[in-house]
Amino acid sequence: MEKVVIIGSGCAGLTAALYAARANLKPLVVTGRQPGGLLTTTSVVENFPGFPEGVDGYELMVRMQKQAERFGARVQFGVVESVDLSKQPFRLSVDGETVETETLIIASGAGHKHLELDSELKLENKGVTYCATCDGALPMFRSQPLVVVGGGDSACEEAMYLTRFGSVVYLVHRRDSLRASKIMVERTLAHTKIHPVWDSVVTEVLDVAKGKVTGVKVKNLKTGAEKVIECAGVFVAIGHRPNTALFKGVIDMDDHGYIVPRKGAATNVPGVFVAGDCSDRVYRQAVTAAGLGCAAAIEAERFLAARNE
Ligand code: NAP
Repeated sequence: MEKVVIIGSGCAGLTAALYAARANLKPLVVTGRQPGGLLTTTSVVENFPGFPEGVDGYELMVRMQKQAERFGARVQFGVVESVDLSKQPFRLSVDGETVETETLIIASGAGHKHLELDSELKLENKGVTYCATCDGALPMFRSQPLVVVGGGDSACEEAMYLTRFGSVVYLVHRRDSLRASKIMVERTLAHTKIHPVWDSVVTEVLDVAKGKVTGVKVKNLKTGAEKVIECAGVFVAIGHRPNTALFKGVIDMDDHGYIVPRKGAATNVPGVFVAGDCSDRVYRQAVTAAGLGCAAAIEAERFLAARNE
């Protein structure tokens, strides 16, 4: 029987693990499909306090895991397939094995949003990708025109990163201004290799028949005009959706699937706490996720202490 199980190994999950471990609760962290979470797919993180020169996202997560393990956290590679939170102890199915626990911290993060185009789905990994740092250096993208879709910090970051490899980077955005932070907007728009395509949406990724990306069809939302931009890669960076399907109908969430805590990190199920991007549609920063992970662990610790009084 576990005292604390943490679902997710991003900033929220690993910070919760650090705090729970230091409270001597020997937490079990179930990593999910992407150990280290979304931050492992970014390049340099410039806004995590304590790293004046910035820190590589992957390295930051490796360090967080080591720090939590140093105090007794156990990190298990695995995927939670189902949960039974109807009674104590909670029961989780992790890769076919049952795990019982007194408390649960949901830090399952968020995944990439898709454009929901049939052609996008068919060409995924054949030129359509959701992560420039993972795929940008592939030979198929070298010295080729590339397209990034989106107007937030992620899209700007992806576009900047891809300037190292592509001959030109088209930034296709559905509005006429970027919603990214000021510093990112300035850097992005000042880059000579980045060409914004304003007020436009991708309506089709070409060419499904050839089994690879050769371009995108874009439509200008103001004029209705359509054109084809030739490119070898499409990098979709239009935001994220929370990984919360497992808890639907059991844990309170909003219409977009973000978990809504009752009070602090506590959910509607006593003993179940939440932290990070799966419950945060406002800030969604590494440092806020870490802070929320800390809060969830402290609350789990207090919950256990109150039960054993
Ligand atoms: P985001 O801020 O939600 O931006 C998503 C962008 O995609 C928006 O510009 C949105 O357009 C566009 N979009 C959404 N759905 C679309 C669709 N179906 N078709 C076309 N365009 C669509 O997401 P994000 O950029 O991933 O950032 C998420 C959070 O992480 C933010 O809080 C951001 O600050 C943070 N972040 C920070 C850093 C950093 O500090 N270095 C890096 C990455 C992310 P509209 O503008 O029209 O809504």
